[in-house]
Amino acid sequence: MSINYYEENNIGFIEFNQDDSKVNILTVQALQELTLIVARLHKAAALKAVVFISKKSDVFIAGADIKEIEGINDPSNGEAKSKAGQEIFNAIEDLKPPTIAVIDGVALGGGCELALACQYRLATFNPKARIGLPEVTLGILPGFGGTYRLPRLIGLPEGLKMILGGKPVDTPKALRLGLVDRLVTSNGLERHLNEFIDDVCNKKIPVDKYSRRTIKGLAVFQEKSFIGQRIVFQRATQDVLKTTKGFYPAPLKALHVIRQNFYMNDRAKGLALESQAFGQLATTAISKNLIRVFYLAEKYRKLGVPDTEGLVSKAMTKCGIVGAGVMGGGIAQLFSYMDIWVRLKDIHYDALALGLKSAAKLYRDAVKRRRLKAHEAIVKMGKIASTIDYTGFRNTDIVIEAVVEDMDIKRKVFRELNSCVNEQTILATNTSALSVSELAKITKDPSKVIGLHFFNPVHKMPLVEVITTPQTSKETLASVLALVKRLGKTPILVKDSCGFLVNRILLGYLNEAGRIWEEGADIATIDKIMTDFGMPMGPLTLCDEIGLDIGIKVLRILADGLGERFKPVAIFEKAYTEGFLGKKSGKGFYLLDRRSLVKTKQSNLLNTTECLQRMVYPMINEAARCLEERIVDDPGAVDVGMIFGTGFPAFRGGLLRYADSLGISHIVAGLRQLQDKWRAARFAPANYLIKLHNEQRGFYS
Ligand code: NAD
Repeated sequence: MSINYYEENNIGFIEFNQDDSKVNILTVQALQELTLIVARLHKAAALKAVVFISKKSDVFIAGADIKEIEGINDPSNGEAKSKAGQEIFNAIEDLKPPTIAVIDGVALGGGCELALACQYRLATFNPKARIGLPEVTLGILPGFGGTYRLPRLIGLPEGLKMILGGKPVDTPKALRLGLVDRLVTSNGLERHLNEFIDDVCNKKIPVDKYSRRTIKGLAVFQEKSFIGQRIVFQRATQDVLKTTKGFYPAPLKALHVIRQNFYMNDRAKGLALESQAFGQLATTAISKNLIRVFYLAEKYRKLGVPDTEGLVSKAMTKCGIVGAGVMGGGIAQLFSYMDIWVRLKDIHYDALALGLKSAAKLYRDAVKRRRLKAHEAIVKMGKIASTIDYTGFRNTDIVIEAVVEDMDIKRKVFRELNSCVNEQTILATNTSALSVSELAKITKDPSKVIGLHFFNPVHKMPLVEVITTPQTSKETLASVLALVKRLGKTPILVKDSCGFLVNRILLGYLNEAGRIWEEGADIATIDKIMTDFGMPMGPLTLCDEIGLDIGIKVLRILADGLGERFKPVAIFEKAYTEGFLGKKSGKGFYLLDRRSLVKTKQSNLLNTTECLQRMVYPMINEAARCLEERIVDDPGAVDVGMIFGTGFPAFRGGLLRYADSLGISHIVAGLRQLQDKWRAARFAPANYLIKLHNEQRGFYS
C-alpha cells in the first residue's frame, strides 16, 4: 500500500505513505493505485479541492522507481512506461476540482512532475525541501510531462536551466521562479493549507497556472518573442555542449524535445515527443552507467561501520586545523560553513593570513552566487579563529593536520598535539601518501588516529578517503564517517598504505603522461587524448593545477614504498628544479613546452590509441593491485574514488566498469603488448588482473 485516499470537509486527500520505506517512490504499484483513485475522482461528486500530500517527513515524492528505468532494454518499452505515467498525470491535470500539491520535503523527478500536473503548489520553508527534475543526471529526460509543463510554468530560460542542468532548487528559489505559489512554515501546515484552499476557492490566485507569473524587461523578450526564444535555445545548446562536451546525450535530447514541444498547443503531441525520446535514452549504455554510478554514490554516502549498532558517534562541534595552506584553509572554510568552530594554526602569521583570505574568498563567492546571505557568511567566517600556538586546541573534538607533506614535520606536529589536546580528541591527518600508522605510533592513543584525505579544492571535490590503521577504533571511525556525511562529502574506506587509493592510481597515470611528453609528443595533444576520453582536464594541465612540487613529492613517496614504476620521469624532475611548479609559481608545463626545453616534437607520429592505453591501462592495473592488497574491499570503492576524486568520466561508469566493458582479457593482452614493446616492467599485468582473465571474470562479475 502506497497511497491513502480520504475526504474531510469535502476536500479529497491523496496521501502518499509508502509501506516500509523512509521515502515515497512512484513505483508501478503506486502508479496503479493513483490511477484508480484519480479515475474514481473523475466520476465522484464535486469536491472543494483535491490535495496531494505526503505522510513522510521531509519527503513529498523522491521520484520514479530507478529500478524500473534500469530494467528498460527496449525503446518501445521505455516509451510505453513514460506514456503510462503521462496518462495518469494528464488525468490529474484534467480533474475538475482545484488540485494542490503540498510540498514539505523533497519533490524530485516524477514527484516534481506530479506537482507540475496539479493546478497549484503550496510549499514550506523546510530546509530539506528540494524541487527539481534531475533525470539528465541518470542519462534520461523527464518522461512524465516535465519537458512540456515546466518551461510553460516558470518560463523558457529557467525551465531549460532546471531540466538541462538537472539541479533541484530550494523552496525560496522555487517561489521566486513561480514553481510554487506560496511558501508557509511546516509548523501549522494544516492551517496554512486551509487558508490556501480558501484563497484558491475565492479565486485569489489566478486559475490558469501558466499565466500566474508577472514578467518584465528582458524576460518578456526572452519568453514572449520568437527571436528571444531562439536566442535562449541557442545559448542553452552552447551551455550544454560546454558542460557535457558532447559526452552526455540526455541534455541535448531534452533540448531537442523542448525546442519542438514548447511551440505545440497540443498536449498529446508534445508529450508523445517526450515519451519517444525517453524510450531512446533509457536504453543507452550511458544511462545504464549513470544509474550504476547513482547507486554507488548512494551506497557510499550512507557508508557506516559494520557491527557498531548502539554505538554513539562523537558530536563534533569544535575542530582544530594545523597548517593554513591550500588544504588547511579549504578545510577550515568547509567546517565553518557547516557551523563547526575552527581553530586554525600555522607557524607564521603570513600563512594564517593566506588561509583566512582563501576562506573569505570562498564566502564572498557563495554570497555572490546567492548560496548565502551576506550576514550568514560573516557569521560563518567568524567561526574560524587563527593562532600560531595551540591555544584552544584543548577543547577540540577533532584535529586535522594539514602541514607540508614531510614525515619529520608531521611527526613533530603529532608530538606537539599529544600535550595540547584532550584525551577524547580524534587526531586526523590529511596526508596524501604518508603512513598514518607511523603517525599513530607517536600519539598517546593510536585508537583515536585516522587519515582524512580531502581533495583539492576542498569545497568542490566530493570525495574523502577515510584511512584506518589496525589500531583505529570503531568509535573513531564511526564518528569520522558521521562527520564526513555532515560535511556533505562521500567517504570511501581505505586501508593505511602507501599513497592510499586515489593518488596511487592517479600518480602513475600522470607520470606516464610525463613520459610520453618526454618522448617528444606535444603537450596539448597528450591532454587532448584524455579530454577526448572524457577526463575533465588533461593530465599535464592537472599537474599544473596540483603543483609539481606536490606531484614530485608524492611520486617519490610512492616510488620508495611501491617501486620503480612510480619514479618521477626526468622531465618532471627537470621542471621541478627549474621552478616550473604550475599555477602556484606562475609558470608550468605549457610554458616549459613552448620554450622547447624538451626534445623535438613528433606529434604526427603519435599513436593516439596507444597513448590512451599507456595512460589508462596502468590505472586499471594499479586498481587491480589495490584490490589484491585489499586497500579497498570492492571495485565500487575504486569507481567512486576515481569519479569523485579525479573526475573520471561518470558516463563510462567508473574506471573498473570501463575495464569490464572493454574485457579483462583485452586489457591483459594490451598491457603485455606495451610491456614487450617498451621493455617496461611497469606494464606487467597485476596478478589479480591475470586471475580475473584466467577465470574469465570482470571486476564486477
Ligand atoms: P601547503 O604548503 O599549501 O600548506 C602547508 C602549511 O603548513 C603552510 O602554511 C605551512 O606554513 C604550514 N606548516 C608547516 N609546518 C607547520 C607546523 N609545524 N605547524 C603548523 N603549520 C605548519 O600544503 P597543502 O597543499 O595545503 O598540503 C597540506 C597537506 O595536505 C599535505 O600533507 C598534502 O600532501 C595534503 N594534500 C594536499 C593536496 C593538494 O592538492 N594541495 C590535496 C590533498 C592532500
